[in-house]
Amino acid sequence: MRALCWHDVNDLRVNDVPEPEIVNPRDVVLRVTKTTACGSDLHFIDGYLPTMREGDVIGHEFMGEVAEVGSSVSSFERGDRVVVPSFIGCGNCGYCADDLWSLCDNTNPNPELQEPILGDVTAGIYGYTHAFGGYAGSHAEFVRVPHADENCFHVPDELDDEQALFASDAWATGYMGADFCDIEDGDTVAVWGCGGVGLMAQQSAKLMGAERVIAIDRFPERLRLARTEAGAETVDYTDVDSVVDELDARTGGRGPDACIDAVGMEAHGTGVAHAYDRLKQRLKLHTDRGEALRQAIVACRKGGTLSILGVYGLMDKFPLGIVMNKGLTVRTAQQHGQRYVPRLLEHAAEGEMDPSYLATHELSLEDAPRGYELFKHKKDGCVRPVFTP
Ligand SMILES: [Zn+2]
Ligand SMILES: [Zn+2]
Repeated sequence: MRALCWHDVNDLRVNDVPEPEIVNPRDVVLRVTKTTACGSDLHFIDGYLPTMREGDVIGHEFMGEVAEVGSSVSSFERGDRVVVPSFIGCGNCGYCADDLWSLCDNTNPNPELQEPILGDVTAGIYGYTHAFGGYAGSHAEFVRVPHADENCFHVPDELDDEQALFASDAWATGYMGADFCDIEDGDTVAVWGCGGVGLMAQQSAKLMGAERVIAIDRFPERLRLARTEAGAETVDYTDVDSVVDELDARTGGRGPDACIDAVGMEAHGTGVAHAYDRLKQRLKLHTDRGEALRQAIVACRKGGTLSILGVYGLMDKFPLGIVMNKGLTVRTAQQHGQRYVPRLLEHAAEGEMDPSYLATHELSLEDAPRGYELFKHKKDGCVRPVFTP
């Protein structure tokens, strides 16, 4: 079958690879119908995230049609149309039982690559380094989904593919980030980043009752989407001297009630702190640039909530003293998709939220390397390229 493979830093190619098979009776094999790029893929494409191997199939946000069913799978049969969260849960461990699916104890077969760094092991994820399990990704004609009864979700017939696809990750992650903020009527929520996850966080915050959402980015097309699709007010950070001062001015000197970082380790910014981060990252002294996160910590009102969705490796210069003295609540996680997907599909079916505008570029799988170029450089207004294998 054809699949998009990682060969080296900034070297993706579509190759012929063996088709996946049922290896455990709880597996299904899906024929992938739609699969999309994620900002976190850029971390290993750019070489910031180790443990990729030449030939690895990438991609972790997807939906498909059940093609083969393991003998112990009870809820799915051939031909079912399903969407799959990017983190793999087992459904049996204490973490899965607590709805903390990205922390599953049983789905990462390579704990030795994570434990020395994290002191623990997280769930596995499709197409996202060997430290996260080394599973084959979804940018392919077929993909194996382990523990199918826990990890596949039926897509209602009335939904288009694009309405369901983003429930796999971008929407679930953004929704979780808003959920972390325990939003009350009248709240103001600031969101750094207007990529797929940021836009979903903004829209979800509105859906959960935020009176105002303020979105921060620098790309005019993305800021426009924040205004038109998410109903957010926007700040172009290249237009203001200080994002923190701007947010203060817009909130009567108080600061937002909650701040969501949907940027992570690839943060762009301006000024000395950013130049310092960039230099250290180049020299491999640390893996992250943390400009957005530091702004969020300083901007947030006293006693507010900091919700971190951006993906980080090991970041120094995290201003814990500010978090502590302002009494901020920090909430963060890789997405617990299985907790949210049923709710998201219901929101879509009820017409309460529609993420399909994220799909700015529909491409064939053969065109996926070009799709990643558009996505990485945000060319042509690209928010998410969607590939049809
Ligand atoms: Zn993702
Ligand atoms: Zn588990």
